[in-house]
Amino acid sequence: MKFATELLYSRVCDNVTGSTTLPIYQTAAYSQATAEDMEKIFAGRKAGFAYTRISNPTTAIFERRLADLERGAGAVAFSSGMAAISAAILNIVESGDEIISSGGLFGGTSDFFRELKSFGVKVRYVKENRVEKFAELITDKTKLIYVETIGNPKLDVTDICALAELAHENNLPLIVDSTVTTPYLVQPLDFGADVVIHSTSKMINGGGNSIGGVVIVGKKFRWNSKKFSKLEEFKHLGTMSYLARLRAKMLTDFGGCPSPLNIFLTNVGLDTLALRMERACDNALALAKYLESKKAEVNYPGLKNNIYHDLAETQFKNRFGTMLTLKFGTKERAFRFINSLSYTLKASNIGDVRTLTIHPASTIYKNAPEGEKLCAGVTDDLIRINVGIEDISDLIGDFEGALQKI
Ligand SMILES: *Cc1c(COP(=O)(O)O)cnc(C)c1O
Repeated sequence: MKFATELLYSRVCDNVTGSTTLPIYQTAAYSQATAEDMEKIFAGRKAGFAYTRISNPTTAIFERRLADLERGAGAVAFSSGMAAISAAILNIVESGDEIISSGGLFGGTSDFFRELKSFGVKVRYVKENRVEKFAELITDKTKLIYVETIGNPKLDVTDICALAELAHENNLPLIVDSTVTTPYLVQPLDFGADVVIHSTSKMINGGGNSIGGVVIVGKKFRWNSKKFSKLEEFKHLGTMSYLARLRAKMLTDFGGCPSPLNIFLTNVGLDTLALRMERACDNALALAKYLESKKAEVNYPGLKNNIYHDLAETQFKNRFGTMLTLKFGTKERAFRFINSLSYTLKASNIGDVRTLTIHPASTIYKNAPEGEKLCAGVTDDLIRINVGIEDISDLIGDFEGALQKI
């Protein structure tokens, strides 16, 4: 079965009633027949639901769907992408640990990484997204390697296969934020990654109507080594120990559970992911080529002269994502360009069906120190564009008009 078909027919039905759409269990608690049943459910000795902060039937079906799409052993959904990212990291890091991360990170993630300093965890950034550069930073304190598939908004592309190999040679897990690519472009677990994260607020939802996140865990990594002492309690579960702790501790104790209604809305969006991605990626490539032909300073992995083009072409099956950036020389010119767009939206989001433009330096990266901003490719003259599914002639028309005004 190919991707779009699998997407539509994988576990979306309710087995009890045959409902073709996901039922919404908008409940906090679940009553049990006996005290013994309640005891067993809390101990994990009987299948069932206790409380929606721990698990919920609507959310469980969505989690299974994402786990299957990503070829994972299982998944845990969270209230936001940031809740998913912080849980995936805090599940294993301890004071004294180091994280090696690609530099081209979403601003919220680098804000969170800065926060980790107060927990005694240090993040070392790789300026250039090349495997040798990651290798140089590995020490005996390194706990994990963290990357984005396509950096938002740096647009650096990670060679997932090569980096997974390096990570595993050093007994390190590779954690990948695949929000920008979605399972439509790549299934990072198939390339050797161990944990995949999505902010489902973006392309998975597609309509920009709910915030959400999900962590999908692979089947292979040996979490039960001494290095991962936080997983000690779950060691008997072997390769499943990370996933078990993620739900039992990160979701249940920190409490960042999603609302069943948001899961429902996101799940409706997911049905059309393949169609939207196909259209938006094609639009992004066409817009990037148009902007390049007008001698604009455009960055997009789909352009032939881009240093990541060949890697992106093979890794992402000849599509290159929906994000591109433009540079204008100064902040003033960048602002003027944004203000000259007539109907595409000025908004802080990506993966919407509508085209969205933002000036990252003054918004998402307003808290980032200069060094981190540079590392993330965020300069004062840069704007980020997330292309939607409009008719391409209209989209080019809007950008053509704005180019003429700067
Ligand atoms: C938006 C985003 C996040 C954070 O997700 P939220 O749902 O906004 O918390 C994480 N990573 C990337 C790449 C993103 O674009």
